[in-house]
Amino acid sequence: MKTICAISTPLSEGAISLIRMSGDEAIRIADKVFRSFSEKQASHMTGHTCAYGKICDGEKTVDDVLLTVFRSPKSYTGEDTVEISCHGGIFVTKKILEILISSGAEPAAPGEFTKRAFLNGKLSLTQAEAVMDIISSEGERALYSANNMREGAVFKKITKVRESLVSLLGSLAAWVDYPEEDLPDVELTAIEKTVSEALGELKALIKSYDDGIIFKEGVETAIVGSPNVGKSSLMNILLGFDRSIVTDIEGTTRDVIEESARVGDITLRLCDTAGIRETSDTVENLGVNLARKKLEGARLVIAVFDASRVLNEDDKKILDEINPKNTLVVLNKIDLESKITKDSFDRFEVVEISVAEQRGLDELKESVLKVLGADSFSSQENFFASQRQKNCAEKACAYLKNAISAVRMGETLDAVTVMIEEALSYLLELTGEKASEAVVDEVFSRFCVGK
Ligand code: GDP
Repeated sequence: MKTICAISTPLSEGAISLIRMSGDEAIRIADKVFRSFSEKQASHMTGHTCAYGKICDGEKTVDDVLLTVFRSPKSYTGEDTVEISCHGGIFVTKKILEILISSGAEPAAPGEFTKRAFLNGKLSLTQAEAVMDIISSEGERALYSANNMREGAVFKKITKVRESLVSLLGSLAAWVDYPEEDLPDVELTAIEKTVSEALGELKALIKSYDDGIIFKEGVETAIVGSPNVGKSSLMNILLGFDRSIVTDIEGTTRDVIEESARVGDITLRLCDTAGIRETSDTVENLGVNLARKKLEGARLVIAVFDASRVLNEDDKKILDEINPKNTLVVLNKIDLESKITKDSFDRFEVVEISVAEQRGLDELKESVLKVLGADSFSSQENFFASQRQKNCAEKACAYLKNAISAVRMGETLDAVTVMIEEALSYLLELTGEKASEAVVDEVFSRFCVGK
């Protein structure tokens, strides 16, 4: 396989840059361009050692660097690999890359190092996807989950499910020559039990993915409320800086403003909206329609009410449109005399705050987690690293469900076998053991160059 090279650190000015080269020729190419100060050239270095020296362009010194050698198979990719740590300038880093290319290496495609690691059996496809998750993690929970996955937790779980199905297929093959009516009921019950257990395991993984996704991707959040209840003020507090102009004139927040805020370990993708209410102002009406759309699409709705006045028509309209399943009711302005209480919001999670006095904000954060069902989520649960993995599991589940119905309806064992085989093929695609080249390419194309 050709020898590839790429810059593995972000291309911006910094203290150090790292250039990586992997393949059969990596060490020979390093010998051409690297002069060790200890006279020990790359080809004389053992794996996992580094040398101090310089990269030369002909007779000219380009930079003093630290060069590390990894020898196959004990490297990230499984191939001979050389890593060059140079000074973190954009020009010098690019220059060293150019020298490697002109000495025989080829530029790596996105994710090609990790793809080679996968092809050389260094990690499974699920582990490779977890590597990408570690890079993109925005919080501790997402990071620990990704690490859990990189250590192979999902792969092991899927393998266990797969093994039970494979052994079931073995039994089915043994019974398949029997006439259907001779098959003892106890065997049918056993088939159904094994398939149901496998289905249960997969469903649990899918559920933990759905729960975990909020830590990974953040939560679409709509802040709704009638004018002047304090939506913009709340949003500004959550964001920690002033983004929209807060005024006393009704209907000033005409556009939908989107920003991200961290609440505990979750990123809320917030949008503050023009309140939902009937209005004759066309511009504001546009805002109102947008607000409705956002309300429909949001995973979390924060509905703000002014506790210092009784509910008006606008408030009541909002109450009609929100759903306790995804809505946190916020009673703002408790620094003033309260005219409404939590009791008006039966079935909703309610929190009382004062943005003006910054009271109740910790409780607000806790309530957000409660509404999202995230207060009990454990990062130790294995959740899939990608929608791709989840889709594979869902397809496998669909076939397993069909297999169960087939058993119950007394269909032939051949039919049951075919469905279980289909489910298995999706599990093999999930772990990458039988993923098509197109699937593998798609996964790695989402990596950055140099990874
Ligand atoms: P929006 O129209 O819902 O976005 O409301 P704003 O955030 O623009 O706030 C409307 C008015 O209520 C402003 O004058 C704010 O200063 C005021 N306000 C916001 N929060 C509080 C609060 O907790 N207590 C009091 N007393 N006033 C508040």
